[in-house]
Parts: sequence; C-alpha cells; structure tokens
Amino acid sequence: MRRHTLLAPLVSALLIGIPLEARAQVRNIDWPALARETQQILADYVRVNTTNPPGNELAGARFLKAILDREGIEAQILDTVELGAGRANLYARLKGNGSKKAIALVHHIDVVPAAASYWSVDPYAAVVKDGYLWGRGTLDMKGQGIAHLMAMLAIKRSGATLNRDIVYIANADEELGSTGGIVFVQRHADLLRDVEYLITEGGDNQVDSTGKVQYFGVGVAEKRTFWQRLTVKGIPSHGSRPTPHNPVPRLVAALHKIASYETPLRPTPGVDKFFRDIARLYPEPQRGWLSNISVALKEPRAREWILSDVYWNAILRNTISLTGLTGSDKTNVIPPEATGVVDIRLLPDQDPDEMLALLKRLVADTAVKFETLLAPKTPLENPVDTDLFRAIEKAGVSAEPGAFVTTRMLTAATDRPTYRKLGIITYGLDPFRVPAAESQRGMHGNDERISLGNLDFGVRFLYAILRNVQ
Ligand SMILES: [Zn+2]
Repeated sequence: MRRHTLLAPLVSALLIGIPLEARAQVRNIDWPALARETQQILADYVRVNTTNPPGNELAGARFLKAILDREGIEAQILDTVELGAGRANLYARLKGNGSKKAIALVHHIDVVPAAASYWSVDPYAAVVKDGYLWGRGTLDMKGQGIAHLMAMLAIKRSGATLNRDIVYIANADEELGSTGGIVFVQRHADLLRDVEYLITEGGDNQVDSTGKVQYFGVGVAEKRTFWQRLTVKGIPSHGSRPTPHNPVPRLVAALHKIASYETPLRPTPGVDKFFRDIARLYPEPQRGWLSNISVALKEPRAREWILSDVYWNAILRNTISLTGLTGSDKTNVIPPEATGVVDIRLLPDQDPDEMLALLKRLVADTAVKFETLLAPKTPLENPVDTDLFRAIEKAGVSAEPGAFVTTRMLTAATDRPTYRKLGIITYGLDPFRVPAAESQRGMHGNDERISLGNLDFGVRFLYAILRNVQ
C-alpha cells in the first residue's frame, strides 16, 4: 500500500509533464469552504462604513491588515499623516521566488454615500437575501477587493510556486479626490519598482440577461477628463433696459458654437480591435461594419447605427458635454458675470492644448475666458501583447466557454493613470458576471448587491489569472 501511494503521484506527474516538485507542492483548494469564507469576509468589510466623505479608510485598512496578519502576509498601513485623520492606504506583499516581476492587485477602500431611504435593505448591514449579498461597495469595489484578497490567500494556502510576488494595495479616496492613489505613488514608488502588471477596476464585461458572459472586456485605456469653465464678464444692470454689456447672451452664443461642433471620429488601435472582436456577436451587415470600423464610419447608414450607441460614440472621438450654467438668480437683473462648465473627455492620445486652442478658435470671442478645472491625468493606454493579457484570456475562456476577451476603453476616470505613470501595465478587470442592468443600478445607486455565485466565480477567475501569469 505504502509503496503504491508513493509511486502513484510520481507516475502521474511524469505522465503529464509537470515537474514533480512543483506538482507535489500544490495542495487542493476547498472551493466551497473558500466561498463561504469569502462571503463572510466581504460582509464584514461592507459593515466597516467607509463612505467618502469622510472616507474613514483607516478602519478598512485595519480590517484587511488583521486578515493578512493572520495569514502570515506582511502588511503595512501607510500614509495616515499625509491623508489626514481616519484615512490610510494599505500595502501587502506575498513573496514569490523573484524570478519574474511582481503583479499588483489594487482596489479602493472608500465607497460613495448611500441614501438609505431608497434602499430595500440597510446599505451597511451586509444582508444576505435571495442569493445576493446586499450592501454599499459590494460591486464598487469592496467585492473586487475581497476577491483579490481571497485569490491571493488561496494561492498562498495551496503552496503553489510563485515566480511573481503578488502585491496587494488598498487605497483611500478614489471616489472623491484620488488622494490615496496619488500619495501612495508619490511616497512609495520604491514598493512598486519591481511591479510589471497591475489589476484594478475599469474593466467591463458584457453579460447577457441569463448571466452568461459574452465577453470579458479588459480596460486597457481610458478617456482623459479635461473640464473647462467659460466665463464672460459684463456690466450689471436692470433687466427692463437691455444693454450690449449683458454677459449672458455672449456666453450663450459661445456655448452654442461649442455645442454645434462635431468632434472628428478617430478609432484608436485599441478601439479598432474592440470593434473587430465584438463583430462576431452581430449579424450582417453590422458584422461587416464593425469588422472595419474606419470604412463603416464613412458610410451614412453604418455611421448612424454605430453612433446611436452612446458608449461607442464616446470611444470613437473626443466628447464635449455642456453641463452647467450660471447667470443671474433674479429674472430682472442682468448679472455682472455668466459662466458655463463643460465636461470634455479626450481620447488617450489627444493633446489637451490642441483641444483648448480649437475651442477658442470655435468661439472666436476674446471676451470668453477659459479656465481648466481639472487637468487631464497621464494618458492611459496599455499594450495588449502581454503575459497578463494572455493569462486573462486563458482564464476567461475556461471560466466561460464560448466567451472571448477583448479591449475596452473606459469613458470615465479611475486611479489607473496614477500607477501607469510609473510604467506599470495597468488593466481594468471586473472579475464578476454582472448583467449590465444590475451594475447600472447598483454602482453608485441604490440596492447595490452581488450574487453569492458571482463572488465565488470572481475568486476562482482571479485565482486562475494569478496562476496563469506565473
Ligand atoms: Zn470604484
């Protein structure tokens, strides 16, 4: 008996070509038990109220550190002085053999406020109901943070050989000022020096109404926010006697010129690939159009169909949305000043100065003053031909047979450019299979929740990615 049990693993290991040493080290993972543990830990994390403002991320960081300490993974609470009272970043590292560069898993501890009266459950009670864990942050993004954590713990407990260290980072303040990520990168670039890859939010999967993934969209790029305020000064007077010095019509004329302007359509290489990838989901003639987007955009019927999708429209061009106006708050008063604010989102390769010059040319009125409210972050575009992308592809296809993996451009902003600035290849990845309607409602909205099946799926998916990328 003893001889057989010793020989059996040796023989099977040789047969399938895995070095005996590596194979012998990996212990089986009890997935159902891990799923229960994940659910419990996420519930406890949701109960740590990290609504921003004020954030209170220090409590979240302490919560995570206690788990990491217990598992024997060295963790540090950082930047408490720089971030202010009650705030912190957390950093931990699971050591590998160092033969390859590290991979980092990053999430934000803070959550947006929840209007409890609009929820069907207490947003911070982490209630389990109808197969879901309900609570603020379950999707954005404590759920992901705990999926990162549990995938890392599963690897540690399995004893698998790690060629890459796994770095675990939790940041403060992503939802408001992004100070957590910014301070972390400024003060601790040394901790990130050997990090080659980084995974955080900013991915977007397409999931059908039955919960089946059509594609996993890896966020490889994002638009750059470039907010402007336009101001016209005038001379205040009474509304009953019109004057040429009323700033309001002058501002309105300027805004009208901007609103009427159509930004050129310009597919970047990543966006071009995205359309080619998803073409398979459509019948002809749409399939043909998407397969060659640049040609299709020159054909009126195809162009109209493509641009009717607000997401597609937004990734094909710089976009300009007029969003705010101020003039007089009294009907009979001509105000001394009128202002408008404009939400501009640039393609990653767009030069902001060129855009500003274009707006000034369009307006053609020196009385209109432009002010940049939010300078654009570092452009975010990442290469796709990488070991991490291939690891995600392999894990995605095996997790959901029939699905494919493609490249998404995010139209909103994340902390990723802050890390990308260090040269780290930074992908947005959503490890869950959340139908669009559900994520639309839950993220920043009411009744945010994650299904327990999804939570389990996310841990396994991330675990597979982390194993594949070694
Ligand atoms: Zn988020």
